[in-house]
Amino acid sequence: MTEPNQPISGNDLARFSGPNTFMRLPQATALDGLDVAILGIPMDIGTSWRSGTRFGPKQIRAESAMIRPYNLQTGAAPFDSLNMADIGDLAINTFSLSDSLRIIQESYGRILTNPAIPVAMGGDHSITLPILRAIAKKHGPVALVHVDAHADVNEEMFGERETHGTVFRRAWEEGLIEPTKTYQVGLRGTGYSATDFTEAQGWGFQMWLAPDLWHRSLVELGAEIRRDIGNRPTYVSYDIDSLDPAFAPGTGTPEIGGLTTPQAMELIRGLRGLNIVGCDMVEVSPPYDPSGNTALTAANLLFELLCVLPGATYR
Ligand code: MN
Ligand code: MN
Repeated sequence: MTEPNQPISGNDLARFSGPNTFMRLPQATALDGLDVAILGIPMDIGTSWRSGTRFGPKQIRAESAMIRPYNLQTGAAPFDSLNMADIGDLAINTFSLSDSLRIIQESYGRILTNPAIPVAMGGDHSITLPILRAIAKKHGPVALVHVDAHADVNEEMFGERETHGTVFRRAWEEGLIEPTKTYQVGLRGTGYSATDFTEAQGWGFQMWLAPDLWHRSLVELGAEIRRDIGNRPTYVSYDIDSLDPAFAPGTGTPEIGGLTTPQAMELIRGLRGLNIVGCDMVEVSPPYDPSGNTALTAANLLFELLCVLPGATYR
């Protein structure tokens, strides 16, 4: 077997040069031989407040250039065993949300004819609905780990049924996810009504509100979710606004009182051993991220996700 693709080392080529791919991995046009396909979905026309996530993939890639391939805390060495590449951006239609969602679903349909696990950099959260439509076609209804300040279960927004705030109601209606194996972590903030969260709990969704997680380690929660899911195919959707705006200010709909960066790392590390069939990192909005910390955090959390994908080796 040939050596899996490696990120370009900062000792071989200065970190501030080279290709703007995730962790400076090779850019691939074909998916043959890949275990993991990292891609960008540069889109912000599904947002309801601040825009800017169209620049998310570009900036996450830029900040990812500093990440080294070995996880010194967990021992993960994902690039030793998984062949990964950055397959570039999807050619969405920035003038039409519905056409963009169609393009995403069709693109994922093609990607999923290969064994590679797709890892998406958004983009606003509306990208996850067409992804789940394609994923469910291949794997059936999946378990869902959804980390977010928001439940994203609105019936509609301005009469539109497909937006970044309606994703998981549609996914439930369409049978794309297993409702009793759906875990929403980090929810908080103000609501449209007093019962915004309770209806989805009635469908079977399990919710952890941020205030109930304040000052707590999430190691146990990660383990609890992992045990409850077992070996079901699982999708992980990570909205960066799950973090407190102190840690991740560069996002479209920030809510105070969120998760800390260490909590996010504990939660993701706790998912090791799950049969993850796809994941995404969404809602990074570089125009609201002057320090770059939000994109830097998103890039590192994506690396943590790569470390818990099936087949990632540990040293
Ligand atoms: Mn969201
Ligand atoms: Mn959100």
